[in-house]
Amino acid sequence: MTAATLTAPAISVDGIAHSYGDVTVLTDVTLDVARGCIVALLGANGAGKTTLIRILSTLLKPDAGTATIDGHDVTSSPADVRAAISLTGQFAAVDELLTGRENLVLVGRLRHVADANSTADALLARFSLVDAASRRVSTYSGGMRRRLDIAMSLIGDPSIVFLDEPTTGLDPQARQEVWSMVKELAAGGTTVLLTTQYLDEAEALADRIAILHGGRIIVDGTLAELKRLLPPATVEYVERQPTLEEIYLAVVGGASAARDRTLTAAEGRES
Ligand code: ATP
Repeated sequence: MTAATLTAPAISVDGIAHSYGDVTVLTDVTLDVARGCIVALLGANGAGKTTLIRILSTLLKPDAGTATIDGHDVTSSPADVRAAISLTGQFAAVDELLTGRENLVLVGRLRHVADANSTADALLARFSLVDAASRRVSTYSGGMRRRLDIAMSLIGDPSIVFLDEPTTGLDPQARQEVWSMVKELAAGGTTVLLTTQYLDEAEALADRIAILHGGRIIVDGTLAELKRLLPPATVEYVERQPTLEEIYLAVVGGASAARDRTLTAAEGRES
């Protein structure tokens, strides 16, 4: 990598357009992602998030516009782009019949990593999968499977990671596990572009949030910048319904108070 590419954004997208036949999905997408940043790409179902990720990962050619990844053009230098990235899709790409460790070693060998065994062991430790390393993936929970999938995508040390809906279908605890892993990646200098439908995910993880709508990025900024787009907060009276816990305590507390009153009256008659 030259000094120029090091200072350039990790991902630079300029005027990307794409149609599937008559269906126009992207009309004019422009977006820059700085190195080591986590950017969340938000958009409704069918907005074109996966289409953009597929273009940036060289799986699809744009009809117009340019995009560079680590300074390499996605259309004219696809091999350089592929060497710099990893892509984890919505559906885990792990082999269910192999163990977690075997999956990692297999990918390491396919990617000609010098020591696939020690790379696999390091990733198992990093993603808290050591205890499950020798179990078949078919016995893994959804969260473990997703962690293994992301671990596999990191073999070869990509500097840019695309995560397409990384937590779809995961329970709250597994989501948290994936979130902390994504944060750890960015803290280590990896650039992460993730798509998500969960607004809380974007709030919790992203340094910047980009909203794809009508074929273009209509908003791009930090959460604080996005909040400034709306009028300042106002104080409003909102009727709050009691929680079940409050109802329970009131009912049980009321019953104990009545019982206490009965006991006191009985004691009065006895004396
Ligand atoms: P989701 O949140 O549902 O995953 P998305 O924002 O990722 O949606 P895309 O998967 O990029 O959206 O799809 C954008 C539009 O392009 C959709 O209307 C989809 O039906 C259409 N589309 C996607 N792939 C193809 C294809 N290979 N051929 C024709 N149309 C397609």
